[in-house]
This record gives sequence, structure tokens and C-alpha cells, in this order.
Amino acid sequence: MLVVLVGGVIVVSGALASYFSVWYQSEQAAKNELTGQLKEAQARIEELEAENAAYRDKEEVMAAMADALEEEEIPEIPFEVDLDDWKYLLVNELNPLAQDYEMELVKTYDGQKVDARMKEPLEAMIDAGAKDGMKLLICSSYRDYKKQNTLMENSIANYVRKGLDYKDAFFKAKEQIALTGTSEHHTGLAVDIVGKGHQSLDRAQADTAEAKWLNEHAHEYGFILRYPEDKEELTMITYESWHFRYVGVEAATYMKENDLCLEEFVELAKTQEKLKEREQTQAQIMNKDDDQARK
Ligand SMILES: [Zn+2]
Repeated sequence: MLVVLVGGVIVVSGALASYFSVWYQSEQAAKNELTGQLKEAQARIEELEAENAAYRDKEEVMAAMADALEEEEIPEIPFEVDLDDWKYLLVNELNPLAQDYEMELVKTYDGQKVDARMKEPLEAMIDAGAKDGMKLLICSSYRDYKKQNTLMENSIANYVRKGLDYKDAFFKAKEQIALTGTSEHHTGLAVDIVGKGHQSLDRAQADTAEAKWLNEHAHEYGFILRYPEDKEELTMITYESWHFRYVGVEAATYMKENDLCLEEFVELAKTQEKLKEREQTQAQIMNKDDDQARK
């Protein structure tokens, strides 16, 4: 009897021990897995934070762009670029325009104020579109400092009315409206063009026949889609299928062919300028050496 009892206890405790050992092991495995997952998540968070820090500073974004451009094999700009040329005027959050920036403003045939130098190509583009059955409407053009300020203030007030505190309202407004002094509309070289059948400046605008036509043909008249969908980080403005900027046919065609935004074009032009200067200096040194050798 005792033997049976002891045997039973041994069997039972053996079973219990192995049960607990299995339980312990699976518990341990689960714990390890969890620790692994936590570590992975932590690493991902750190990675994201690092990424975030790298991109928080817009100057750094621009520097990253310059490096990326160097690595890409982009054909050399096939024409002379003078970056002081009015056509290449770069206005963005990092490059605000002077409050008193002035140029000759004229009215287009539908009363929009633009830089006199781009009136002709702009109207030629609208006419060409009309011939292809496009009902293009310029809905916004020159915007001075005061107008920019009013737009920004109204937008902030609008969000505050909706219940946001001022800071959130400011950033929300900033998503859609350029900070005063940084609007390209101030140059007189930018216009917003929509289809008459769909006049809202929204995502659906991109699907209109007019937006598609402009995207395909604007460069032929010297215009670029200034804020493309895949360049938001560089332009610092969300995609706008309606905002066109005059840069001249040569630059517009080159930028379209090589998928560059104005920020990239200017950066590339700067790099090429530097390279040319270096080559010239080297050539001068070589010539001097030759002269020395001949003497
Ligand atoms: Zn615009």
C-alpha cells in the first residue's frame, strides 16, 4: 500500500514537475519574445527619432538634397544659368522675399495681376489649352505682403473659431498657406489655374482634364508645376496641382525632363557653377605652368 502510495506520489510529483517545467519554459519563451519585440520597437522608435531629428531642420533637408543630387546622374544643365536672373527667383520658407520686392505688374485679359514679363507666355498657354478644349481659369495671381498677411490671419482665426488653440491653429494654417513673406505669389511669377468646372483648390482638382493638360504642357510655355506631390519635403508646401510658376521654356523643359523642383534646379545650378569655377582656376594654373616651362 505504502509502496503504491509512494509510487503514486512520485508519479504525480514527476508529472507536476514536468508540467511546471514545460510551463516555465513556455513562459520564459514568451517573455523572451516580448523582450525581443520591445527591443525592436525601442530601436524603431530611436530610428524614427533620429530620422525626425535629421529632417526637423530644413537646412539639413536641403543639404541632404544636395548630396542626393550629386549621387543621381542628372545631365548637365544645357544652357547658361545666371541665378540672379529674375526667372529663377527662389522663394520658400528658407528664402523669404523682401517686403518691398517690386516688378512691373500688368493685368492679364481676365484682370489678374502678373509680372509683365510672363503675361505673354501665360496667355499663350491659356489660349493653347482652350484650343484643346480646356476651360482654364486663373483664380489667383500676384499677392502682396499685406494680402498674404490677411490670408494667414483669416485662416488662423478660422481654426481658432473651430476650437483650436492659437498655436495649433497657426500650424494648421501654415500647412495650407505660405508664411507671410514666403509666398511665391509675391513674385508675380506664380498663378493658380483651375478648371472652370471644378474651381476648388483640393485634391480632386488634380483629376480634372485641365490639371492633366497643364501638367503635360505647361513646360512648353515656360511654366512648372511648382509644388509636385513627391517633392513636398523640399518645397515645404503640400502638393498643389494648380500652382504654376514661370521659369522660362529652357528651365521648365529641363526640370520636367529630369523630374526636378525649383529648389533642386537652383542647387544643381550652384553646384555646376562651382565646378566650372574650379575648372577655370585649374586651367589658369596649368597655363601658368606652361608659361613658366617655356621661359
Ligand atoms: Zn498658388
